[in-house]
Amino acid sequence: GVIIKALSGYYYVKPLGEDGAPIDSESSVQCRGRGVFKNRGISPLVGDRVKYVLTENGEGTVTEVLQRETELIRPPMANARLAVLVFSLKEPEMNVQLLDKFLVHIEQAGLTAIICLTKSDLVDEKSEQKYKEIIELYKKIGYEVIRTSSKEGLGFNELKEHLAGEISVFSGQSGVGKSSLLNAMMPGLALETNEISMKLGRGKHTTRHVELIPLDNGGFVADTPGFSQLDFLEIGVEELGDCFREFREYSGGCKFRGCTHTHEPGCEVIRAKIDGLIAESRYQHYVQFLEEMKDKKRRY
Ligand code: GDP
Ligand code: ZN
Repeated sequence: GVIIKALSGYYYVKPLGEDGAPIDSESSVQCRGRGVFKNRGISPLVGDRVKYVLTENGEGTVTEVLQRETELIRPPMANARLAVLVFSLKEPEMNVQLLDKFLVHIEQAGLTAIICLTKSDLVDEKSEQKYKEIIELYKKIGYEVIRTSSKEGLGFNELKEHLAGEISVFSGQSGVGKSSLLNAMMPGLALETNEISMKLGRGKHTTRHVELIPLDNGGFVADTPGFSQLDFLEIGVEELGDCFREFREYSGGCKFRGCTHTHEPGCEVIRAKIDGLIAESRYQHYVQFLEEMKDKKRRY
């Protein structure tokens, strides 16, 4: 099975069939972990594929954690391969700097990013051109970009195709439309959205723990409460350039090894920027993040 939730010492394991897809008709089994994991320094994570045995009263015991494909620290989860970065085009306006920051973390974690732009229906003609250019920019770098509207039913079949059979994390600021999108993709899901919580006169219930939601196509998604504390502590200064995908094409040609692409002579990244092959906005964010990293590392 796969651990879809971990809470108060229990692991909730969704049974998987021979093909690795969840068995829809079987609900999750509440399992205890065996003490043996702690001794070996393995702590089962949401997303882990595990072996378990059934014990009395319908509960179970996790006996083995299978090899992980990926491991994320924030949110703590295993085996995610896709990260859906959700940004709204309006309300709130898209924050391209934050997108680049997410992308750095995704590249470092080795996940595949899908950029999902929500609330397409709210975009006026004036902003349309600006967004077209942004979309083109990220597509050119090699990212999948999908525009959606939960109001108009746009884009979710396309998105859903990507999620089939995968464990995905949905990340984005509160209010960008993550819950609305997941609800629209999965009739019957009924996650609480902001609109509903407003009506009920309270802020949206935000979960602190990670939980996987099974889709009807063999995929699972984790609706994470946004990477709010995105810091760069786990990334080395010399790694940052490689987390900007399109830089890699040029950085091999830099004259100096360990070139930071800021002031060095013979820097091919700077040259590519001047030639218009690397977008000004991406380069600027790179320099900003580099400063931020150096600052943080000085302070800690
Ligand atoms: P979350 O915090 O990211 O889960 O965002 P919600 O799904 O709760 O949505 C926040 C607000 O945006 C709600 O008032 C939604 O009705 C609204 N919203 C979400 N998606 C769309 C959309 O595609 N179009 C429009 N016009 N509004 C949307
Ligand atoms: Zn360089």
